[in-house]
Amino acid sequence: LAKDRGKNNYQFYTDKLHGLSSRKMELENGLRKALEQNQLMLHYQPQVNLETGEIIGVEALVRWVHPEKGIISPAEFIPMAEETGLIVPLGKWVLEKAAAQNKEWQEKGYSPIPMSVNISVRQLQEDTFIDCVKQVMFDTQLAPNYLDFEITESVMQNSEKTALILDQLKELGVTLAIDDFGTGYSSLSLLKHFPIDKIKIDKSFVDDITQHSNQGAMVKTIIDMGHNLKFSVIAEGVEEQEQVEFLLKNGCVVGQGYHFSRPLPVEAIEELFMENKRRGGILQ
Ligand code: C2E
Ligand code: MG
Ligand code: MG
Ligand code: MG
Repeated sequence: LAKDRGKNNYQFYTDKLHGLSSRKMELENGLRKALEQNQLMLHYQPQVNLETGEIIGVEALVRWVHPEKGIISPAEFIPMAEETGLIVPLGKWVLEKAAAQNKEWQEKGYSPIPMSVNISVRQLQEDTFIDCVKQVMFDTQLAPNYLDFEITESVMQNSEKTALILDQLKELGVTLAIDDFGTGYSSLSLLKHFPIDKIKIDKSFVDDITQHSNQGAMVKTIIDMGHNLKFSVIAEGVEEQEQVEFLLKNGCVVGQGYHFSRPLPVEAIEELFMENKRRGGILQ
């Protein structure tokens, strides 16, 4: 009996594991196909001067337009892409597309602004990464100061290798931002040892700056320390006017969030650029 029960348990777990891994494999194969068959697209979210409402940058955010399931969020496939290494070709596609799009906007006569691109740790530490960036810059002829790479604090864990790569990127002329700042383990003073230009305060800190005074004090400290260390500071996940006021009062003049715009497909963000220009800023 005990033996049977044991066997049943074993059966139960393997079935469960099998179910999990086959779902994962399905997703993985699907994403591989998505890359080959052009099912990926970029949406663009504006970064805004909080005083004037002027759009001063955009972040490229990848979406998977699945033939049956519709639009799949990056939160669902980026972690798997990182695990399997698919992030390398995927990230290359994103970088090429984002840089080419930014060049196209400049050629169409929109005010030139930097394009922020998310770079995964695994992608950044790939031996071919610097060459890939050089290739993209050569192919698109986009000036490097119109590219801004968003990396997370976790890259600092492999600090020697990371420092070398970041130095090379700075030499190429791109700017570097720490994404989701505050959710990792690094301190601002540690970041000082890396050639970082900008920190993005994570949405989770911005969420209740106006409700809980502790959170507000924390954000104020990040802004002050960031500026003291000569980083520019941007707040992400800005959803309400009260947050804009808090940020401005405390010296943070750039924000990104649904309060201004959700990430938009290319035609829609181009309309937003035109409207923003017509109204002389003010995007609210
Ligand atoms: P992230 O880089 O921190 O991007 C910000 C995320 O917050 C985006 O989600 C954006 O749509 C969302 N967001 C912006 N403002 C607001 C707001 O006011 N309220 C709320 N609730 N959400 C807001 P998204 O597009 O789903 O992307 C999720 C994450 O996936 C990104 O977080 C980034 O880590 C990753 N990701 C997206 N595209 C790429 C990519 O091309 N490469 C890599 N490596 N990662 C990417
Ligand atoms: Mg980002
Ligand atoms: Mg972020
Ligand atoms: Mg975040």
